[in-house]
Amino acid sequence: MEVEIATIGGYEEVGRQCTAVRAGQDVVIFDMGLNLSKVLIHDNVETEQMHSLDLIDMGAIPDDRVMSEIEGDVQAIVPTHGHLDHIGAISKLAHRYDAPVVGAPFTIELVKQQVQSESKFQVDNDLIKMEAGETMQIGDETELEFVNVTHSIIDAINPVLHTPEGAVVYGLDKRMDHTPVIGDPIDMERFREIGREGEGVLAYIEDCTNASKKGRTPSERVAREHLRDVMESIKDYDGGIVATTFSSHIARVKSLVEFAEEIGREPVLLGRSMEKYSGTAERLGFVDFPDDLGMYGHRKSVDRTFKRIMKEGKENYLPIVTGHQGEPRAMLTRMGRGETPYDIEDGDKVIFSARVIPEPTNEGQRYQSEQLLRMQGAHIYDEIHVSGHLSQEGHYQMLDALQPEHVFPAHQNLQNAAQYVDLASSEGYTLGEDIHLSRNGQVHQLTE
Ligand SMILES: [Zn+2]
Repeated sequence: MEVEIATIGGYEEVGRQCTAVRAGQDVVIFDMGLNLSKVLIHDNVETEQMHSLDLIDMGAIPDDRVMSEIEGDVQAIVPTHGHLDHIGAISKLAHRYDAPVVGAPFTIELVKQQVQSESKFQVDNDLIKMEAGETMQIGDETELEFVNVTHSIIDAINPVLHTPEGAVVYGLDKRMDHTPVIGDPIDMERFREIGREGEGVLAYIEDCTNASKKGRTPSERVAREHLRDVMESIKDYDGGIVATTFSSHIARVKSLVEFAEEIGREPVLLGRSMEKYSGTAERLGFVDFPDDLGMYGHRKSVDRTFKRIMKEGKENYLPIVTGHQGEPRAMLTRMGRGETPYDIEDGDKVIFSARVIPEPTNEGQRYQSEQLLRMQGAHIYDEIHVSGHLSQEGHYQMLDALQPEHVFPAHQNLQNAAQYVDLASSEGYTLGEDIHLSRNGQVHQLTE
């Protein structure tokens, strides 16, 4: 059987992930992501209104025109998890394919919300929920399986396409977490089985975001203890404490909520995406927040909450807000600019439970946001965080577990993907032979 891999997006950047795998006449597309930085660099771009081709030209979504070179029919579109760089282009591209979107329940729920807010295209693809550990028949001879992995968002999976020529493992995005705060540990046992059963692993597409980082990415448990330590240390402070993190990082939000209560403060979630992700996670039963936890997204209800906090005393509350990257329109940035009823005063604490995404736009915005907060006397706690991506030792362990015939580094620019090539070379792989440094829009035929 012919097996081909088309590296469509995310092979020259972090963002707009997209890869197609063809096995005989059946094609599966893994991820359809958005490169948000290409959108944010323009003022006031409303992507909901934009046409796919314009977004492709901007470099914001994958250029899937290469699909016309691929034979066969697309049988499924499979997002790995709910981060925008993996699902953000579904509303712009999925309608071109007569295929369902198949994902884990939390991911599908986020896709559903995105499709509903799309105003340019009618996206009628079926949305199918499939749990980690489950499989789905794709055509006559191939099968799709979801393996549970751990990442900085709940319900992340690595999809595996089992073909007669061996398995194709799509390995984006994960870290090896054996003690996650929400959900099950990464299923390394299953990866080891897949590496040894049947024809073994034909190809492994790997998330090499942190391929330059030595050692091991710590568990979420470590970030949680770090956060607990910081919050315990300021428990006697009688002024304002504000925290920010990735809205989609439900495990971290849960830790913040719990520790707020431990230090005698009422947590409250503020900002549109805080309300969206935490509300969705709670509704689907992934997290059990206190019954009276306030979540507010709309400007009016946020302002009302801030006024209540100012009236009843900032020392009684922990606002958990959007804006960890200094995004100009996010809550924390607005607080720094004095655009909300919440006054930041000399000595108040701001906790960034996040790391700045190393990208010049983010770094600049985050710098500005922090300066605004400092000018009002805020004290900053930074980088209370662990990465969601494997470091070098995790990569070695994955290669050992899967023993893939071919490896494709992804989720990076070419410069950083080269770091992964070095790593794999030390395990006996050869560039251009069985490790493929690919660009966006290339097609690789693996078997005949
Ligand atoms: Zn991710």
